[in-house]
Amino acid sequence: MKEIRKREIRIEADSFRAKCKTGRYGVIDLFKECERLGYKLLRYPLGDYADLGFAVKKDNDIIIFTNSCSRLSREIFTLSHEIGHTILHLDDESSFIDDNMTINGKSTDEKEQEANYFAACLLMPQDEVNKFIDLEIQNSHGKSLSAMDIARIMSEFNVSFDMALNRLESLGIIDSKQKQGLDNEKIEKRVGNLLRSVGGNARLNVSGKEIDMPYEYLESTIYNYNHNAVPEETLKRVLAYYKLSIDDVSDKIAEHCDDDDDDLEDLIGGLDD
Ligand SMILES: [Zn+2]
Repeated sequence: MKEIRKREIRIEADSFRAKCKTGRYGVIDLFKECERLGYKLLRYPLGDYADLGFAVKKDNDIIIFTNSCSRLSREIFTLSHEIGHTILHLDDESSFIDDNMTINGKSTDEKEQEANYFAACLLMPQDEVNKFIDLEIQNSHGKSLSAMDIARIMSEFNVSFDMALNRLESLGIIDSKQKQGLDNEKIEKRVGNLLRSVGGNARLNVSGKEIDMPYEYLESTIYNYNHNAVPEETLKRVLAYYKLSIDDVSDKIAEHCDDDDDDLEDLIGGLDD
């Protein structure tokens, strides 16, 4: 990526970040910020081997999906990556579907690299990282960071251990040898233990399997069902996401016959893999 493009992306990430509520250094709850900023956010535990996220534009809505089977810190990274796509790349024709390859920086696709760079700049801006290390980490001068320090960084910036290491390396704060050493220390001590030992947010290291679907999807499914555009099974499945049954919405249901074509189904089809 060219330096001039990187700068453009930093500017976009910085202006998005300015709209978010931050703690002393990191964004507190990126999911809440997305909802507040008008994105239609879907979180669903799609499975450990399923796609990690997607971003699409549908009518006037921007829809972002994240797979909540990921560890929370990784789900947050996926969300930031999808926000990157929506700001940098999304138009009426495009949509982005992300898996392990695209999110973990293994893809050579330029847009994927840009979305990852955006995510890194949004979650861990250089200034804030430097300030955190300077002010919050004891003996940070002249002494290399420990795995416990990385756990502190994780907790403040709501990122995974690996993301913290990658970002610190790309900012030139650690070199590849130090990164390897910290990675070994992580394997030995385990991230959950490290987080607990610094009083950090251990939730970051486990998957929340959250379900968060905007109410509009239920309404549009009922509408489609009433207009014979989706079968009863689809309605039941969507209702189940909201922990409802057909009886709970019987006042909204009209007589109809089944058909098999629905764009909600296209959108969230495969959720029950
Ligand atoms: Zn992507």
